[in-house]
Amino acid sequence: MEHQPFETWLLEDTPLAPKDLRRLKQHTAECAACAALQKVNAALRQPVSAAPALGFSERFAGRLAAQRQREKRRFRLGMLTLAFGASAILFSGLWLYHGIFAFSPAQLFSAWVTFLAHLGVWWQASQVVQGVFARILLSHLSPAAWSTLLLALTALPALWVNLFRRSPALISAK
Ligand SMILES: [Zn+2]
Repeated sequence: MEHQPFETWLLEDTPLAPKDLRRLKQHTAECAACAALQKVNAALRQPVSAAPALGFSERFAGRLAAQRQREKRRFRLGMLTLAFGASAILFSGLWLYHGIFAFSPAQLFSAWVTFLAHLGVWWQASQVVQGVFARILLSHLSPAAWSTLLLALTALPALWVNLFRRSPALISAK
């Protein structure tokens, strides 16, 4: 079978006059090879769809919201751990310094529980402030920076208590 000029037309994607177009149609109806070539041409001319799959942005937004929620929970847990740990260290430090002559461990424990209860009330009241604070910190601090900050804040009361224990003159000077 004679494939020319049809093969060349198809390979070069030549714009055809209606008369040649009719001849090409006739040929591709009989010739499987040129028909296949025409199919490839048509496939290559198909516009490539760059639009995201249906519902993609909704799924993405949903996943982002879930991620934010997880970060928020992690932040709250971190703050709670910090408050709990710092107050425990603070109170045990106070007991070590004053306790021998001022508080019994039971008194100190009840004072600590009362303090935590007050902290809980304060926590409830500061939800809005905390939300803003969390958003700012979460958007600026990496998890590594967070751990360092928490560790430093937890260690501070211990350092403070230790300082006062070593130099009672600081207290009497005040
Ligand atoms: Zn052919």
